[in-house]
Amino acid sequence: MMKATRGSLLGIEHLEAGEILKILTLARRMNPQKPQTLLRGKKVLLLFYEASTRTRSSFEIAAKSLGAMTTLVLSSGSSIEKGESLLDTGYTLRGVGADVIVMRHPHAGAPHLMAQHLDIPVINAGDGMHEHPSQALLDAYTILRRKKTFKGLQIAIVGDIYHSRVARSNIHLLSKFGAKITLAGPPELLPETAATLAPGLHIVRTAEEAVRGADVVMVLRVQKERLAGMKISLQDYIARYQITLQRLKLAKKDALLMHPGPIIRGLELTWEVADCPQSMIVEEVRNGVIVRMAILARALGKAK
Ligand code: ASP
Repeated sequence: MMKATRGSLLGIEHLEAGEILKILTLARRMNPQKPQTLLRGKKVLLLFYEASTRTRSSFEIAAKSLGAMTTLVLSSGSSIEKGESLLDTGYTLRGVGADVIVMRHPHAGAPHLMAQHLDIPVINAGDGMHEHPSQALLDAYTILRRKKTFKGLQIAIVGDIYHSRVARSNIHLLSKFGAKITLAGPPELLPETAATLAPGLHIVRTAEEAVRGADVVMVLRVQKERLAGMKISLQDYIARYQITLQRLKLAKKDALLMHPGPIIRGLELTWEVADCPQSMIVEEVRNGVIVRMAILARALGKAK
């Protein structure tokens, strides 16, 4: 099996802590308000087989802020609809001159397959229920800016953990740096096997237990598009797991409220919580551009 090209970012699980810190340090030097020419002449291909707002737009703005050109290929309206295989699409995009491919795909491992067959870096912008490394990096960046260290931080992750690639990448990242993670959700959306994702993970069945004393409360969307056959009562979910101001008050006074988006107000969190002073939701999006600038610079060998 061929190895992925240097600079690829396929997941957090196998990324060394030192590499993660390098990306976060590089991100601090990035500023989308001051356009740069670091990636002038480079072609960034955005290949999206699944819906995206934040990830897609911020990778595009990140690339353009560094002087690169971008082209967007969506599964609908492209030859993917005509049955072209993933690898043939990859060879085509390489053929038109792509220097890096940023891709989102409904199947776990799709970016890894692409990376093994192409001689350019591939960035995973979310693969099925597997990983979403750029989201974990921007969440880490957001936490570090506010809390200065991960060590000893108590992180509560509440919601649909089973379907969440964001949860998986965040768990891998935060546990590498000594954070204490508690997961909460109904058994259908949080199987006991989740405890094997990282050493020291704690699973609880009430939102209150997870949130009490937390430094960071990460809320996840119920991924209706992946529920296929699962019977989840949303009323029940709201009653037991919705993050309300009352539940948020159980966390530390200066706790951060995070959510990768899209948020569904009135379901996994209330309107007031989404807009409360502790909410990092908009800041996460803003930091996403900076962190993705760093990811692209690293991918194209400009991470000096
Ligand atoms: N935007 C995130 C993702 O693509 C989270 C979500 O969709 O709920 O995984």
